[in-house]
Order: sequence, then structure tokens, then C-alpha cells
Amino acid sequence: MKDLAEVLNDWEAVIGLEIHTELTTLKTKMFCSCPIEHGAEPNTHTCPVCLGMPGALPVPNKAAIESIVLAGLATNCEIEKHSMFYRKNYMYPDMAKNFQTTQGPVAFCMRGHLTLEVDGPGVEERHGIDDLSEGDTMENIVKTDYGYAAKVGITRIHMEEDAGKMIHVGGVDGRIAGADHSLVDYNRAGTPLIELVTEPDLRTPAEARLFMQELRSTLLTLGISDCSMESGSMRCDGNVSLRPRGSKTLGTKTELKNMNSFKNLHDGLAYEICRQAEVLESGGVIRQETRHYEPATKRTITMRVKETADDYRLFPEPDLAPYDLSDEFIESVRKKLPELPRQKKQRFMEDYGLTRDDSITISNDVELSEFLDKAMEIDSSLATQVSNTLINEVMAYLNQNNVTLGETKITPEGVVELCKLIDNDTISSKQGKTVFQEMVETGGAPSKIVEDKGMKQVSDTGLIEDVVKRIIDANPDKVEAYKNGKKGLSGFFIGQVMREMKGQANPKVVNKIVTDELEK
Ligand code: ADP
Ligand code: MG
Ligand code: ZN
Repeated sequence: MKDLAEVLNDWEAVIGLEIHTELTTLKTKMFCSCPIEHGAEPNTHTCPVCLGMPGALPVPNKAAIESIVLAGLATNCEIEKHSMFYRKNYMYPDMAKNFQTTQGPVAFCMRGHLTLEVDGPGVEERHGIDDLSEGDTMENIVKTDYGYAAKVGITRIHMEEDAGKMIHVGGVDGRIAGADHSLVDYNRAGTPLIELVTEPDLRTPAEARLFMQELRSTLLTLGISDCSMESGSMRCDGNVSLRPRGSKTLGTKTELKNMNSFKNLHDGLAYEICRQAEVLESGGVIRQETRHYEPATKRTITMRVKETADDYRLFPEPDLAPYDLSDEFIESVRKKLPELPRQKKQRFMEDYGLTRDDSITISNDVELSEFLDKAMEIDSSLATQVSNTLINEVMAYLNQNNVTLGETKITPEGVVELCKLIDNDTISSKQGKTVFQEMVETGGAPSKIVEDKGMKQVSDTGLIEDVVKRIIDANPDKVEAYKNGKKGLSGFFIGQVMREMKGQANPKVVNKIVTDELEK
């Protein structure tokens, strides 16, 4: 099979995403007051409404509508003031009502967009990018200094409800095939879900991954979901087709399911693009089908072939009146819009002077951003040092221990103080790492830790000079070699001095004295 770069030379990939997000931060379900709770005893959070008992009447959850309007405003959508709920009819045991309540042709949010800032290796996936200079435009993209910006249309975001959960017993890996019976848990049935559908505006797997990342950090910032791809509260289907370069008609698409990580989304689409190219180039045709991505084998396999359009007999829900949103309501939601990740990124660059990369990394995380802002209120002169500590120490610690910042003893005061101690040469950056570890474990103040451990960095030139001279005297052969041109040996002397001084000597001072002595 050809590789992605080769395929994209001859073919243009067209990608559109459908992304479901459970509104996990809400307290109750979409049309009833059953609580939303992960991991509860099965079938303990149900009622006549979410079980679809005859005569039970649904009532829309206003907090859920507020959440979807927030999502729409954050993604530049137009908010529709008049929309309706519909019944999407189908029969499956995880849906006791035999229909899903969803929205019709008009959703709460329509015609939005996100602008992706594509940088790094992903830029190379975009065909023709090398021929552009900064500021040039091509289709929906603009070339920039970091790569390119791509404007991706959002068709709609609509409100719907989740189904229950099936548990298949007796088969392999909980799959239905080979199972001897199945159980159903309706606790999840009726959980509010928003579905975002993009225009087929994406052209590379890297763009698709970035769209998903951008949307996820936006929704996390809004606080409307925990957006966990792992546990399935955020799920993405990728639609992809190919067309020969230059063609404007859409090819037949396949739909990929089970892309439960950013990497799988990227790799699944990349594989599928290459597979489609191989089929087309050998004279075959693409069948419209749903495929499943298998990360282990890095392949996609057929799940089901779509021969006819599904007929869900969509009709307006007779138990719910058309939904009208007032201007006052929309404006009140707009006022609640927090600063979004891309705005934060810009501010971090402009106000704190951070690099673009660091600003993106921090702005994508709500907790880290708040932490940075608090630290900057304490002392804004150490922005770069604080941001480095956040990225190199704090994030590493959080990932390794699988905890959130709030669950640790790390405080903005502590990090600022630590950065100060390194910046004014009280301790070396190496000692800083030890202090950080201690700080995380005990929650102690860095200056106190430094004092207790007797860690002060030695910058006393007299003291360091003595050690340097002793080591030089003990290694005449190496001094000779240095003088004969092996300048790299200064590293040996610095290392010996640092070792002798148990890592407490100021490396800058050691460096200078060693070089001075050797050059004498
Ligand atoms: P379906 O009815 O099969 O779900 P939709 O028209 O609802 O198809 O589109 C679903 C998603 O697929 C959207 O994100 C859309 O942008 C994308 N899409 C539609 N047609 C194509 C195509 N030919 N190639 C790639 N993506 C497509
Ligand atoms: Mg669809
Ligand atoms: Zn209920």
C-alpha cells in the first residue's frame, strides 16, 4: 500500500466529522429529573419518562439547552430561535422508548466554524502548502509563519439523548458475537448529548485531529462535559472520501467508528485514505459503509454496508411544543461565555511574552491556565520560568501520576517561589527538581525545603576556585590534552567539580572558573 504522502499527491481527501459529547456536568437527564451518575448500580436512575412508559410526559432540561447554546456561541454558530424536537424511530433493546428524541432539520446551533492553527509535522500533510508564502490563501486556508490557518465549517450542533448500555455476557471482550445472553442498564438512557456535524472541509488526518482537539479544549473550558474519549463521553465518527486532484465532485465516503483517541482518529483516517486509494487505483469502487478502526493492527474493517438510506420515520415529537429561545435568554448565555482557549493563547503570548507553543499547551488546559494567571498575579516577571516549570515539571508529574492539578499540593505561590530561587541563583535548576519533588510530596514552601535540606547553591568564587585548582592539579594529563586542543575536556573538569561539591555549586560560576583556569 502507498503511504499517505504519496496518496495525497494524486488524490484529495475529503473529511467530515460527527462528534457526540455527553453533557456530563449536568445533574439530571434531558427530559426527566433522573440523576446522571456514572458507575451507579444498574437501573437505579430510571423513571417512566426515560423508560418510555405510555403517558409519561417529557420536560426539556433548561440547563442542557443553556449548555448547547454555550457550545454554539463558542463555535461561531448562529443560534436558531425556533426549533423542534423530533422522534427518530428505531427498535433496539438499549432504547426502551423505541425512538430517540432528537432535533429535526433546524437545530439549536447552525452554520458555525472553527479556525484551526495547523503547525508542526501535520503541515506537511496538506498538499500544495510548500508553494505558498506567508499571507497567501488557498481554498479555506491561509499560510502563516507557524504553518497555516484553516477555516472549517460546522453544519450544526443539535440536542439529543443517549441510549442505555448493553452488557453482553459470555462472549469475548464483551462483544455480542458469541455471547449467551445480554443485560441492559438504562441509567444512561436519556442523558443529554450534543452532536456536532462539520462540513466536509477537512483535507488531512492532521486537520481532523486538530479539529477534535480544538473542540475538546473549547468544551472543557465551557465546563459542559468531561470530554473523555477514553470513557466515551466524547465520541467521534470520521467520514472520508477521495477524489482525483482537481475534481470538485465528492466521492463515495466511508464512515469510521471507534476512534477513541486523537491518535486513533489520525491513524484510522490515514489508513482509510490509503486503503481507498488502493481500491480506486486498481479499478474498484468504494462502497458506502461503516468501518471499524482496529488500533492493534492499524487497519479498518467493514462493520456494515449501507445499501439504502436508513428510514427512521423522523417526525415532530407530539409531546413537546416547538422550542422558542428568547433574545434575553441567548444574551444571558452569551454573558456566561468564558475566555476561550485561543483567546487565552493570544493573551499569554502578548501579556506574558510566552512562546506560541507554550501558550497553546497551557491554554488547552483549564486548570493550568488558571494556575498560570494566579502565578502571574504574584509575580509576572518570571513568566517564562513559571511556564517552563508548568510544562516540564507539573504536567509531567500530573501525567505520571494520573491526577489533576487540584488533587495535588502544588500551589502558584510555591511554583513562583521555586522559580525565584533558581532565578536568583540560590539553588541550581538541578536542585530545583529535587525541591519540586519535595514540594509535591509535602506541600512545603520551597525556601523552607532549601533551608531544611541545606541545599543552598554555592556561588562563593573562592570556595569553588579551591576545588577547581585541586582537580586541575590532580589531572595533569587531561590539562595537557586540553591545551593541545581537546577543548571538550572542560566538561570533564566541570563534572568533577560539581561532583565534589555534591551538585551544590552554581554551574555558571563553575563553568567560568574552570575555563579561566584551563586557559591560564
Ligand atoms: P450521512 O447521512 O451518511 O450521515 P451526512 O450528509 O449527514 O451523511 O454527513 C455526515 C458527515 O459526513 C458530515 O460531517 C459531512 O461533512 C461528511 N460528508 C458528507 N459527504 C461526504 C463525502 N463525500 N466525503 C467525506 N465526507 C462527507
Ligand atoms: Mg449522519
Ligand atoms: Zn428518568
